[in-house]
Amino acid sequence: MNYPKSYVSEAQQIIDDRKNKNGYMLDLRYEEIKSKLPLAKKYIEDMAETINKVAQLIVARDERIREKIAVIEKENLDIQKALEEELIKNGYPADYLNPIYTCEICCDTGRDGSKRCECFNSVLKQLAGKKLSEQMPVGLMSFDTFDMRYYSDVPRTELKGKSAKFIMQQNFDYCRSYAENFHLPCDGIFMMGGTGLGKTHLSLSIAREVSDKGFSVVYGSVPDLIRKIKDESFGQSDEEGEVLETIKECDLLVLDDLGAEHDTKYNTSNLYEIINSRINNRRPTIVSTNFSISEIRERYSDRIASRLLSMKCMVFSGDDIRMALKQNK
Ligand SMILES: [Zn+2]
Repeated sequence: MNYPKSYVSEAQQIIDDRKNKNGYMLDLRYEEIKSKLPLAKKYIEDMAETINKVAQLIVARDERIREKIAVIEKENLDIQKALEEELIKNGYPADYLNPIYTCEICCDTGRDGSKRCECFNSVLKQLAGKKLSEQMPVGLMSFDTFDMRYYSDVPRTELKGKSAKFIMQQNFDYCRSYAENFHLPCDGIFMMGGTGLGKTHLSLSIAREVSDKGFSVVYGSVPDLIRKIKDESFGQSDEEGEVLETIKECDLLVLDDLGAEHDTKYNTSNLYEIINSRINNRRPTIVSTNFSISEIRERYSDRIASRLLSMKCMVFSGDDIRMALKQNK
């Protein structure tokens, strides 16, 4: 996928920052060891000295340079080994003073041979996802702020004798474990139920936690995301083709409020394309809607309905908790 140049330079900056931060952390480790372990300090200085010796040989154009360098290398390895032993003896891991890399494949350069390293691509995907989700109040919603007190524990016939609280606890547990164990590929979740029952809170909590783990996440209401796709395809956006691509290719897509978009052929076919492509590629999508199953079947084609219902279906029930929350403030 082609990302705008601004994303590429921003991603490179993030990778460079990682490299600098890791370099700084390594410097701190050297300082720590040198101040705590005098013998290790001597080894570190000896190793620096061997590098000096090589430099001097090169400058002096010494005739037996190869032979001499081989001797120095052997000396260097011996010191390195002694240093590692000294570290272990004092409770440090043997590789404590090795270079620190966030990505072992590219050593934090962002390049893997002639192509972009996977770490670079995943930073790009995260940036594109964040850009699309910009206006979402992800910061406010988390599993910790979900309040179960507002759900009734009275058993209900339409819930097969279970209470709204019982059902919500099940939904909550499922969502939390889904976020905690998020991996790719995995299945999506289809959340159904009236407004104010916690669908948005739980889907945002998942989005937040999965994004914190470094996955690329797009969160948006269906009308908002469709508007962005439309703006892009009709040239009202300076982003070229990347909105739809990002929506289709992000690690987790959260589509809030399905059914709130205008009921047009254009919207429905875009939705089908997104949901279908993601399911076929086993990329998870969380969809929430105020519609019931029969309303979904009525509004959308059988193709969309059956795609949605093939996901983990979660029913939210009870009374609108937003009223209760307001009264308690
Ligand atoms: Zn890498």
